[in-house]
Amino acid sequence: MISKLEEKKGKIVRIDGEVQQIQQTSGPTIFIINDESGTTEIAAFDKAGERSYPEIELDDAVQVIGEVNEHSGKTQIESSSMTKLSEENTIKLHKLIDDALNKKAEPQHVDFLVKSDVLNRLKPKMREAAQKIRRAILDGRTILLRHHNDADGICSGVAMEKAIIPLIEKANPSNDAQYYYFKRSPSKAPFYELEDVVKDLSFALEDQERHGQKLPLIVLLDNGSTEEDIVALMQAKIYDIEVVVIDHHSPGELLTKDERDGEIYGATVAVDEYVDTHVNPYLVGGDSQLTAGALATEVAHLINPNVKDLIKHLPAVAALGDRAECGEVYQYLQIASEKGFTKEHLAKIAECVDFEAYFLRFMNGRGIMDTILAVDNLDKHEKMINALYKEYQKRIDTQLKAALPNIKRTQLENGIYFNLIDVEKYAHKFTFPAPGKTCGFVHDHVIKELGEDKPIVTLGHGPDFGVFRATDAVNEEFGFNVNDIVSKMIERVPSAGIDGGGHECAGSIKYIEGLGEEVLFKVVEEIQSLTKK
Ligand code: MN
Repeated sequence: MISKLEEKKGKIVRIDGEVQQIQQTSGPTIFIINDESGTTEIAAFDKAGERSYPEIELDDAVQVIGEVNEHSGKTQIESSSMTKLSEENTIKLHKLIDDALNKKAEPQHVDFLVKSDVLNRLKPKMREAAQKIRRAILDGRTILLRHHNDADGICSGVAMEKAIIPLIEKANPSNDAQYYYFKRSPSKAPFYELEDVVKDLSFALEDQERHGQKLPLIVLLDNGSTEEDIVALMQAKIYDIEVVVIDHHSPGELLTKDERDGEIYGATVAVDEYVDTHVNPYLVGGDSQLTAGALATEVAHLINPNVKDLIKHLPAVAALGDRAECGEVYQYLQIASEKGFTKEHLAKIAECVDFEAYFLRFMNGRGIMDTILAVDNLDKHEKMINALYKEYQKRIDTQLKAALPNIKRTQLENGIYFNLIDVEKYAHKFTFPAPGKTCGFVHDHVIKELGEDKPIVTLGHGPDFGVFRATDAVNEEFGFNVNDIVSKMIERVPSAGIDGGGHECAGSIKYIEGLGEEVLFKVVEEIQSLTKK
């Protein structure tokens, strides 16, 4: 057994295992193999730089005979022979390893950080997600995290990263394992788009070809639940890549649901055809107030309970970033305050994350984000937040100075306060805050004047896009929902190539420029036609 190799140094052993990876060095060929107990390196040498045992391929079951040695601090077998196992023995070994790995991958039983009915109903799915991720680590598959590029998405990604990397390092003998087996990237769009998936697939297929790596497990965070994600997910599925989604965006119509005593315990939605494990509060009767950051942190805690104290303040940052409010949020704020973070400071963290994400674009900014989120480099955290926050405010002031005098404000006949702003004409371009955020700040400004309990909708638009922000009151009293407006516009102006969506009270719409005025006019009509419930 591989786990017992260390005791056998200097001796000849015989090991049956599956080939996980094949690397050609300038010297020997390195085979990484595993059995039901662990993973080890096999060095095979014919001629320097030449592939040994060319007949042996990835995923083959092999029998290795060789001497146990140490190579730069790690246990290694120097093979004297390597042969493929018979079909019968291959099936036996495969089953043995599969069972052992599934058992090992099962997450521990730990309590959630907060008390929550929605989380309790989601628990089986969350445990399944944790098990899939733990299993992928043991399999030597790369974990490819993709997340929305805002405070909530980044909190989700960082919480997962902190849980996963120590397990990768434990499972793999090589020193830079985390760079091989882990990747975290933000998605620019608020969904998994073709641009993301083609990059992910081509890197994965190239790594498979060049470095003999297995295809990855894709984990989508704060993204992945909506119909817009399907095109990209479909491509991943063509390669049989496993996909886990942890998201809180509305996934659209529930196609089936398991309802008991008036509560939903599980539902399926359109995207489920392409997703292996889908964690989303809407599937158990919850909603987007439970953020992806909260869900991902809870799953991260299931994956690796050791990181609990390090990441337990992240759901509070995520909630403030997404402006979520629910019973769980108050508990998360309490947890963060026990770590010494005031609500005011947590909100600053969320804003600094968004600010820095704008400049990082496609980079994950690991070290910097760790500092801002206070999960590493703790001594630099305060300084960083102070510096960033000052600049952040300065830029917002500049933007609002341009935008505020140009808001078109009306109260519609149904009582909704409607604000329209052309964020292309009356805002600085290609700088922070970008149009979507600018619309958010304009909306906040109006709320401050009118009151949070009023039905207020703000639409910031350019020639070919619009960004919606609305108060909860419009959603509750009038049934306002960005996703409904987008679907209605697709029907009403079919030639405008309309696309978009988001949360009920915050989202966006895209259309072709030539029909921009018509779309905007009809959007306003739609909001006008809403009636108070
Ligand atoms: Mn979110």
